[in-house]
Amino acid sequence: MTTVRTRIAPSPTGDPHVGTAYIALFNLCFARQHGGQFILRIEDTDQLRSTRESEQQIFDALRWLGIEWDEGPDVGGPHGPYRQSERGEIYKKYSDELVAKGHAFPCFCSAERLDQVRAEQMARKETPRYDGHCMHIAPDEAQRRIAAGESHVVRMKVPSEGVCVVPDMLRGDVEIPWDRMDMQVLMKADGLPTYFLANVVDDHLMGITHVLRGEEWLPSAPKLIKLYEYFGWEQPKLCYMPLLRNPDKSKLSKRKNPTSITFYERMGYLPQAMLNYLGRMGWSMPDEREKFSLAEMIEHFDINRVSLGGPIFDLEKLSWLNGQWLRELSVEHFAAEVQKWALNPEYLMKIAPHVQGRVETFSQIAPLAGFFFFGSVNPDIRLFEHKKLSQDQVRQLMQLILWKLEALRQWDKERITACIQSVVGHLELKLRDAMPLMFAAITGQASSVSVLDAMEILGPDLTRFRLRQALELLGGTSKKETKEWEKLLAAIA
Ligand code: GLU
Repeated sequence: MTTVRTRIAPSPTGDPHVGTAYIALFNLCFARQHGGQFILRIEDTDQLRSTRESEQQIFDALRWLGIEWDEGPDVGGPHGPYRQSERGEIYKKYSDELVAKGHAFPCFCSAERLDQVRAEQMARKETPRYDGHCMHIAPDEAQRRIAAGESHVVRMKVPSEGVCVVPDMLRGDVEIPWDRMDMQVLMKADGLPTYFLANVVDDHLMGITHVLRGEEWLPSAPKLIKLYEYFGWEQPKLCYMPLLRNPDKSKLSKRKNPTSITFYERMGYLPQAMLNYLGRMGWSMPDEREKFSLAEMIEHFDINRVSLGGPIFDLEKLSWLNGQWLRELSVEHFAAEVQKWALNPEYLMKIAPHVQGRVETFSQIAPLAGFFFFGSVNPDIRLFEHKKLSQDQVRQLMQLILWKLEALRQWDKERITACIQSVVGHLELKLRDAMPLMFAAITGQASSVSVLDAMEILGPDLTRFRLRQALELLGGTSKKETKEWEKLLAAIA
């Protein structure tokens, strides 16, 4: 019997997402339940967006939750390298094989030509897709053009009619018409593979037997299935997990709900409770109990107990569950966890330099700097009254700064300042026009330590969260404003 092998394959392009942890958890449980292995692979073929910082954050966040992998970039293993950016030669070989077999072809079309084809198809109300222009170029001519250095991608051929049957472990056979599939690019002009090729090749070479992934990938499943067929490889069992949703049923998004695992760590949730809550997403224990540990989940795991209705990721429910966990700790353990959370020397050393000169007694520290230990702060709305700006302009300014800070990858005082500077500069304002607003939103009070220092110390998660809450206090951003202001945002350097 083959050993069950599952994997999580995150792309390191942003904050470590709760959705990644959720899918990782189910893959881990599935593998462990069958005495198998769980692998972590980094899908970093998008060179522009992938960063090592983000990769490290993913490792740290998963480990904080208690999710461990048997093989991966940081722990090694017999099927490495486990980072796609280090596997370039492998993909090239398989792409060449597909071209040689006639299942894929080099495509030399320019972006302009593709845009034009697309525009014409849209005008005819057709689904935009590649028109097969380069499919019939003779192989020797294609080779000559490639040898001459002409820029090209490699596309896969797909059937133009009929349906593809996707055997899903949860839904049974799902039929998807082939005419919805485009001739997918497998190799980009920069010589790097796309998700489709790299994912299939790696799952095969890494011996993955079961792929549990988010259902957002279901519509593209036929392309993966076709690739397995072209290579003559056995296809892993597929399982499309229901997506996490906001309480309003929309797909979980950071505009409505904090999605970064590190946010929950900073807010003071216990990793065990967080993992327990993720395990409750679309799944339940046979006895329906709400509180369970990872070991208990593995012991009783049954993939057939996943229900397809979109599980709602609800902060209140999570907090309730966290409360259950907290109350069951021994007092000693509780105190130790609090210390680890934010009363640790490292965090206090970040704060100390900013309060030392501002107090005469230790007992003045809490009133001055208590907000370093808060999740939300509750600023008085009057703190946002502005000498120069109307309330609408205040909201606009804060929204633009929040968006800029959401895109900021490296978090330090200089970069935070530069973000705010770029927004105020564009609006022909001064830094001092924005600072009192930032101050109110972040500290919730009228005076304290410098807000830029506070933002750096609090970190991106809590800073963004408080800015978002302040914006909501001021009435939020309407759909229409979002559209208009996003245009403004795009114009800010
Ligand atoms: N790199 C993909 C992601 O970030 C992997 C999806 C899959 O599991 O195939 O979600």
